Amino acid sequence: MAADCIFCSIIEGNIPATRVYEDADAIAFMDRTQTVPGHVLIVPRQHAANLFEVDPQAYARLFAVTAQVARAVKAGLNPPAISVLQNNGREAGQTVDHLHVHILTREAHDGYRMNWDDLHANSEQLERWAASIRENL
Ligand code: AMP
Ligand code: ZN
Repeated sequence: MAADCIFCSIIEGNIPATRVYEDADAIAFMDRTQTVPGHVLIVPRQHAANLFEVDPQAYARLFAVTAQVARAVKAGLNPPAISVLQNNGREAGQTVDHLHVHILTREAHDGYRMNWDDLHANSEQLERWAASIRENL
């Protein structure tokens, strides 16, 4: 439990939330901002700010719960599609510093769009980026 963390307060039951699932590792509740019908958050019980701080095994478990809940959202609300989003850092849109995964129901022409424009990087650039990543694995 981290002081002044809104999601820790929800986990502790000190702030109300509309819960859909909980187990020993994670809880799922409705996002208070329903950007789409059935916008759900999955949150690990143990506080970690984001993927840079969490144990990789705990991160894997979070996504196992996410798969379970996302399938229930699909079956229960019947959207044609679902996106899963997990922001890490302000520039990525993270506003709550307790790791969380968004489940977003999707419809055709719903206006959601990541920028998938091609940077047209050449093979030398790809190799430089890949080398920088490999050096840190
Ligand atoms: P992000 O921008 O990825 O950090 O997402 C944070 C999400 O938490 C936003 O979609 C908020 O609407 C949601 N949120 C913040 N406070 C609460 C709360 N008390 N109950 C439910 N959802 C919340
Ligand atoms: Zn927290």
